[in-house]
Amino acid sequence: MELLQEAEIFAQLLNAREKRQDDKLKMIADGFHLVSLQLNIPGLPKSNAQLFEFVKEVDKAFRIFLLSHHPNCKWQTKQILSDVAGDAVLYLFKQEQIDKNDLKAITEAFEGYFKLGRIVDLDVLASDGHPVSSGKAKACFICHYAAEECRKTKRHTIEEVRQAMLDAINKFIEQQKQADLVNKVASYAISGLLHEVALNPKPGLVCRNSAGAHTDMDFISFINSIAALSPYFIEINNFALSFDGADVAKALPQIRTIGLKMEAAMYEATGDVNTHKGAIFLMALVCFAVTRVVKKNGCLKINALSSIIQQITRGMVQKELCLVGNDAELTHGQQCFKKYGLQAAGARGEAEQGLPTVLHHALPLLQERIKKPFSSYTDVELNELLVPVLLKVMSLNNDTNILFRHDVKVLEAIKQKAGQAKVAWESGDKEPYYDLVQWCNTSKISPGGSADLLALTITLCHCKTEFAKK
Ligand SMILES: [Zn+2]
Repeated sequence: MELLQEAEIFAQLLNAREKRQDDKLKMIADGFHLVSLQLNIPGLPKSNAQLFEFVKEVDKAFRIFLLSHHPNCKWQTKQILSDVAGDAVLYLFKQEQIDKNDLKAITEAFEGYFKLGRIVDLDVLASDGHPVSSGKAKACFICHYAAEECRKTKRHTIEEVRQAMLDAINKFIEQQKQADLVNKVASYAISGLLHEVALNPKPGLVCRNSAGAHTDMDFISFINSIAALSPYFIEINNFALSFDGADVAKALPQIRTIGLKMEAAMYEATGDVNTHKGAIFLMALVCFAVTRVVKKNGCLKINALSSIIQQITRGMVQKELCLVGNDAELTHGQQCFKKYGLQAAGARGEAEQGLPTVLHHALPLLQERIKKPFSSYTDVELNELLVPVLLKVMSLNNDTNILFRHDVKVLEAIKQKAGQAKVAWESGDKEPYYDLVQWCNTSKISPGGSADLLALTITLCHCKTEFAKK
């Protein structure tokens, strides 16, 4: 029975190959050279979901390689095939655009350059119907001999070669996915920080056309600071992937180490001004947690994210803020905590509770209001979208920037005014918001903690869209 089935599959395979060859000859008839990209994997099946995904990755890499080596050369059409003969991509090039031997040289160089090039065959069929061959022997995937020699002498079994190739493909796809995850989360962190500072006008905060309540920093300080912070998000995300302990609380010292490097980079870039200290702490935690959750689940689960942040920061308020001593010996945060208790737990408190202001209020509001991809919003539309989110955060957040520089009365007034301005804004009346902007700017009140939470909300909105359940 099994033998019969195998014979049947073999017959289908031969038919599919023959048909593919006929199709190729038809395709080149009008003066085209054809490149076919396929995998060189022994055994069956020739096509499955994993191999198809790999072929698409090779196709992506080949496109970039081709354009970088021959900028004016572009294929006229591209066709992706998937049948019993295997997954393949066919590219047609006008014969007057590129010489067949140049094309062969590029495909061969690609096979040498691409990490798993020994699994990939890029064959060139010239417009005259003849294959272009370089006559060079391909190396065996397992040992250092020529592949053809190993095949003839049966140095390795088909199963052995196939398994080695499939394992390598699996590893390659996994590495690509991880690199993609690391890069995307980093770029969303930067996007959150950029969009926060670009939002204009804001009450008391640095924005594009105003330094708000500040005299020691402006828009450019923020741009310089964000640029200096950028590379470290990649470092945090890579750490999140490599950290393999079950207890994420043990990751805190390393996250802190990266956070402290970020602070140093920020101070250097801004001439010793604190533009993003709170944002660094929270964004580092968020990046770490998003990367972990997406790696584990394949999508961003908000409960899992919240839980990781809680586990990492458990007991932090008690340990770091609850100190007795003279004000001169205490940090701003510790002085505030001594005076106001838990209301002044600030960014640490928000983190220890698993980011409730962001995850239960600001993010749902932004997700409810967002009607198209974030990147397609214009400047004016973004203002409409983000101001109510900032106001929502301000109406809830016990901003320690305000508690430290002012008092609880001012904080409560801000929260109330923000809540009212949000209701008015959503009914089309923007005056209360502009009044709030004016009041904060002239009274020198800067809700910097709320700005940090807005940046996180934007970052998480990107992540939620990108890493949605498929
Ligand atoms: Zn070999």
